[in-house]
Amino acid sequence: MKRGNLIDGKGIAGQIKDELKDEIQAWSAESGRRPGLAVILVGEDPASRTYVRGKVQDCEQVGIYSRLIRKPDTIEEEELLFEIHRLNEDPAMDGILVQLPLPDHISSDRIISEIRPEKDVDGFHPINAGRLSTGLKSLLPCTPHGILQMLKRTGISIAGKHAVVVGRSNIVGKPVSLLLQKEDATVTMCHSRTQDLAHYTQQADILVAAVGRLQFITAEHVKPGAVVIDVGMNRTPEGKLAGDVDFESVREQASFITPVPGGVGPMTRAMLLYNTVQSAKERG
Ligand code: NDP
Repeated sequence: MKRGNLIDGKGIAGQIKDELKDEIQAWSAESGRRPGLAVILVGEDPASRTYVRGKVQDCEQVGIYSRLIRKPDTIEEEELLFEIHRLNEDPAMDGILVQLPLPDHISSDRIISEIRPEKDVDGFHPINAGRLSTGLKSLLPCTPHGILQMLKRTGISIAGKHAVVVGRSNIVGKPVSLLLQKEDATVTMCHSRTQDLAHYTQQADILVAAVGRLQFITAEHVKPGAVVIDVGMNRTPEGKLAGDVDFESVREQASFITPVPGGVGPMTRAMLLYNTVQSAKERG
């Protein structure tokens, strides 16, 4: 059987970044300023540091002004809130991103809910989540929006398809289900209490895996010809980055599949830039 086509997330993200670069140039010429993104990093977690460095580099590439604010992991919640409030009032900052996870003594929910919704470029604020679920315009969470863009730009039709999403987190599973439903897919959501997972996933025309378990989705979970989107970012015992999908076996079944790395990850990063530009344009 023909192996599934790769969905080139890295390439599509590059396309989006090129489009944004032009858009930013035109907007900056008109407005006299650049879109601005503040990134707050608390502590020294190596993975978080790598992500933050990537985000700052992405900003430089497309012409977004970025400010990295580093705080020690001993910072008190009130002090971090003070920083958020300061950035909320800063006219040069269109987006505020707090790199998660935060230390245990700080409530991520509280921090996120204090970011002004119009500067919430991660799309995690309860107001943005509520607007998404009621179908109102909002800043969309980056990973779900990136997945949608990837499907659309690959020419994969969504309307009328059965999409099965494994995972129901607030940052991936839930919002991607809503976005797919908004695009007229019929959506089934699965989670850790789902009985007989394969029964559902085998019916998927579009299967999204957002579980966080290495090679959890195998060929037996996948209908021949399905489109498979792998959100997972796990480490193999050798330390390599790998997804939730057993790539080699599933590729034999799928019509399209995203690789890890080079799939959903770069799209997430591109959509953060997109949101920052949207926010700048809205704020003027
Ligand atoms: P969470 O841990 O918040 O959610 C995982 C979900 O998977 C939960 O809903 C959980 O169910 C479900 N789950 C766990 N075990 C099973 C099981 N045995 N069967 C079915 N469902 C199960 O993770 P996130 O949503 O934050 O992230 C998921 C993965 O995506 C991670 O690997 C993360 O690193 C990656 N990620 C990648 C991004 C990217 O840009 N590529 C961005 C964000 C995340 P329940 O709700 O019942 O507990």
